[in-house]
Amino acid sequence: MKRTLIKNVHNELGNIVTIKGWIDVARNQGKMAFFDFRDVSGKVQGVVFDKPEVMEVAKTLRPEWVVAVTGIVNERNDKSAKEFKENLANTGTREFFIKDVEIEITEIEVLNQADTPTFEITESTGGINEEVRLKNRYLDLRTERMQNNMQMRHRVAKLCRDYLDEQGFLELETPILTKSTPEGARDYVVPARLSPHQFYALPQSPQQYKQLLMSSGMERYFQFARCMRDEDLRGDRQPEFTQLDLEISFATEEDIITLNEELLVKIVTELYPEKRIQQIPFPRISYTESMEKYGNDRPDLREDKNDPNVLAFCWIVDFPFFEKTADSDDPQAQGEWTFTHNPFSLSKPEHIENLKSRQNIKDIVAAQYDIVLNGYEIGGGSVRAHDPEILQSILRILGHSDEKIETNFGHMLRALGSGTPPHGGIAWGFDRLMMILQNEKTIREVIAFPKNGEGRDPMMDSPSEISQEQLDELHLELKPLKKES
Ligand code: ASP
Repeated sequence: MKRTLIKNVHNELGNIVTIKGWIDVARNQGKMAFFDFRDVSGKVQGVVFDKPEVMEVAKTLRPEWVVAVTGIVNERNDKSAKEFKENLANTGTREFFIKDVEIEITEIEVLNQADTPTFEITESTGGINEEVRLKNRYLDLRTERMQNNMQMRHRVAKLCRDYLDEQGFLELETPILTKSTPEGARDYVVPARLSPHQFYALPQSPQQYKQLLMSSGMERYFQFARCMRDEDLRGDRQPEFTQLDLEISFATEEDIITLNEELLVKIVTELYPEKRIQQIPFPRISYTESMEKYGNDRPDLREDKNDPNVLAFCWIVDFPFFEKTADSDDPQAQGEWTFTHNPFSLSKPEHIENLKSRQNIKDIVAAQYDIVLNGYEIGGGSVRAHDPEILQSILRILGHSDEKIETNFGHMLRALGSGTPPHGGIAWGFDRLMMILQNEKTIREVIAFPKNGEGRDPMMDSPSEISQEQLDELHLELKPLKKES
């Protein structure tokens, strides 16, 4: 029989349906058996009575077994059904657990059995040891909370895609096997078998490629981009994470800010109607003002921090372009300049001359903006230097020799010199945005398969060793590990 999704079972009152899914709860009461069944769309109760042959099967069933269940849809009239109906009448939304109907089971087919799950799937796994959750992530993801997190992640991504498509953006992929870029973090590298002793780098972000797409005349680009940064995993970091990355030709800072603000407001109003944005348009605060007033550049502007449904967005603008690496441990580096955000940015128009002549460096303000939500930086971007002379000047301020500029950035300079339009863009930390929207405490709760605090995947047991044969093919030899003192 054709499968009915559980969320649609209530439309079939009096009819015979077949549902397919998991046994959430099994309660065998001797002559009768009750079940809660679960699929991607909802939960519903099923009951077996007066059917000895079905009862024989029912007795054997255990939680997490996968079943096809056929039966008649009846109305429910108990206490929880009444509560469900009242809530439905008040809010118009059907809860995940459908309680106004139940299925009087006439047939059960077991599609697969299951080992006893390591933890309860029926409850939120928030309190369970995270290592255990990650090792059994496929079980963890079956819980209602995690299913909801994944579904909302999809909904938000889809809304972004649809909106950006309407606005004339192309969704384009950029390479994962790429070249080391100076974006501030350590690269993950991949040995290139066909070019022995050479390595690809995994992208820290598609920064150069998205700018090269502007050189290529694509005008409006976006991508849900996977970014890899080999950093120490302090706090809530992941070695790989997702950005909503975009770039626009002929755009001013104002254009980019307006478009992003419109998209964020749309996400909240359409997908999170229970949430309230504290202020629209989002307040804009200069970096200097934010540091003076709040002591940081990601202020939490919520007037009421106890309310999980308040979203206080703001833009932080006018960042200093350069800072001294004075606190570097490396004495050689003392007094050198580094970029605060992105070496490819442009300064504010009034500072372009200083950028070109490399004067008053500490006062140069970048056309750089960060989007902050409830005390978290959820994105950042800038208007870019599209004049090769300016980019070259920036790279010289950063202390790169002409030779190094040619090896690392020659392609960028040539592309800018080939007729690249003015452009700018932004990237959102998509995981962090989803974490806040879903009222979660870590980004791991909104990523299907995250790594643990040591950067490991306990389920796959990765990273792992590779065979001698693989090493030989790559011309790699492993040095013995240094003994820890
Ligand atoms: N690529 C930058 C980053 O990853 C964002 C941007 O400037 O578009 O932070």
